[in-house]
Amino acid sequence: MNVFETHSAEETTDLGRRLARQLKPGGIVLMRGDLGAGKTTMVKGIAEGLQAADAGDVTSPTFTLIHEYRGPEVTLYHIDLYRIDTQRELDTLALDDLMDEKHILLIEWGEKFDRFARERDAEIAMEHLGGDDRRVTFTD
Ligand code: ADP
Ligand code: MG
Repeated sequence: MNVFETHSAEETTDLGRRLARQLKPGGIVLMRGDLGAGKTTMVKGIAEGLQAADAGDVTSPTFTLIHEYRGPEVTLYHIDLYRIDTQRELDTLALDDLMDEKHILLIEWGEKFDRFARERDAEIAMEHLGGDDRRVTFTD
C-alpha cells in the first residue's frame, strides 16, 4: 500500500502518470472516493502514462458509462457505475466482454458490486482533505 498527498488537480494527474506504470494489464482497478474526490482527474494521468490519450481528452463517463482509450500496449476502459444500481443494469454493460490480457478496466463506483470488490487487482482510493488537498492510497 502506498499513500500520497496531492495539492492540485495537476499533481493528481502527475501521480496518475506515475502510477500507470504499476498497473498490470488484464485486470480491474477500482477507483474509489466520493464525488469530486478526483477519480476522473487521476484517470487523465493514467491514460497519458499509458500513451492512451491526452489528459484533456479524458472526460467523465458518468452518462456514457464506458470510455475506451487505446494505447500502443494497453487499452484502457474507464467505467463509471455511479448510475448503475442493479445487477440487470450492470449485465447490459457486458463488462466481461472487455476483460482481456491487454486491457485495464478502471472502474469508478465499482465497489457497489461485491464482485468487483473481490476481483479487483488494484485499488486507487481518493479522499478529500479540504480545499485542493487529496489523499491517494494505492493498493495492489
Ligand atoms: P470524481 O471523478 O472523483 O468525481 P473529478 O476528478 O471529476 O472527481 O473532479 C475532481 C475536481 O476537484 C476537479 O474539478 C478538480 O479540478 C478538482 N481538484 C482540486 N484539487 C484536486 C486534487 N488535488 N486532485 C484532484 N482533483 C482536484
Ligand atoms: Mg468521476
